Amino acid sequence: MMCRHCKSENVSVNTNAMIVSQDRSFLWNLLMVVLTSGLWILWMFVRGRKERKVIETWATCQNCGNRWKI
Ligand SMILES: [Zn+2]
Repeated sequence: MMCRHCKSENVSVNTNAMIVSQDRSFLWNLLMVVLTSGLWILWMFVRGRKERKVIETWATCQNCGNRWKI
């Protein structure tokens, strides 16, 4: 792998694990509670918090410090 900035081959790669919440907005939940006459609250309890783990790979140039996502 080569740095796009300084064309150096001295590049280290590391991964970052991130938690991304997939919860809908508060207004959406409020609307659904009204539409389902409260059943939505029950559904939210059953379903629990929906979260997704995203793994990102980043490359760091040891020569110029340039970082970019792979
Ligand atoms: Zn570089």
